[in-house]
Amino acid sequence: MTKIRYSLGVDLGGTSIKIGIVSESGKIKKRLTLETHAEAGPEAVVQQIKKGIHKILKNNDRPIEGIGIGSPGLVTSKKGIVHNPPNFPGWDVLPLGNIIKKEFKTNVFVENDANAAAVGELIFGAGQGFDDYVMITLGTGVGGGIVFNKKLFKGSTGAAGEIGHLKIKSDGIKCKCGGTGCLEAYTGINYLIKIVSERLKNNQSLLNEWVNSGEHNLTPKLIHEAALKGDEFALGIINEVGFNVGSGLSSVVNVLDITNIIIGGGVAGFGKFLFDPLTKTLRENVMATMRERICVKPAKLKNNAGIKGASGLVFYKM
Ligand SMILES: [Zn+2]
Repeated sequence: MTKIRYSLGVDLGGTSIKIGIVSESGKIKKRLTLETHAEAGPEAVVQQIKKGIHKILKNNDRPIEGIGIGSPGLVTSKKGIVHNPPNFPGWDVLPLGNIIKKEFKTNVFVENDANAAAVGELIFGAGQGFDDYVMITLGTGVGGGIVFNKKLFKGSTGAAGEIGHLKIKSDGIKCKCGGTGCLEAYTGINYLIKIVSERLKNNQSLLNEWVNSGEHNLTPKLIHEAALKGDEFALGIINEVGFNVGSGLSSVVNVLDITNIIIGGGVAGFGKFLFDPLTKTLRENVMATMRERICVKPAKLKNNAGIKGASGLVFYKM
């Protein structure tokens, strides 16, 4: 009987740390969630990560081949150095990979969370059939990962794939990265909700009724529900997101000549309402030779994509 391989994945987020033991076929065998305590500083976060890993490894009879960590912020070098993750006060620069390796004496691989998501799709998901693709994660942040010849393309310092900070408008909205007019400043969930609430003041929409009733918060899911009921305002918003993401991605495709696109993250839940204008815009704005080859797919890993992507790093690297 062939032995099943396992790895441990850590999905480090601003509010929670999700940890799981995952088989090489992508099944989560054991999982737990802890609070991040990001506000208490990097030491506290590291303690939480260690605590969670110790806890999940206790009484675990599945030998793991290594630990993969998906982290916000830029991740450089083999030491797994994490730079300034957004929403982690006082973090600056920390060799997270080495710290965890010292504690658990196993292989540890750290990647930026968007890159980990791209690797997750490569190992377990929608990227399995592709040699090359660009993955974009539309969540609170807008992250990107580039896979070329079945390998993650990281650039010279490991920071490649920051698709969220492609400039899609001149003199546009100020983005938290310091730039203006970034794709993330229009499609990142917090920015998007802010734009939508502002516009709702002067527009008729089911969303006004639902939100004003006090029973609902304005979320991408609520916008999708309104769109499903044919709400023109909601449909217009999603169409615009599709146009913006498609415009940004067309620049990426033109530069890289990679025509397979995988879309993940909460905003991808807009489904067909998003994918149709996105694909149309993409086709209209790429070079003619690439047009017919454009293939846009939703990410396959939905819930637990973070844990699976992180654990996938181990299978990918080993
Ligand atoms: Zn930006």
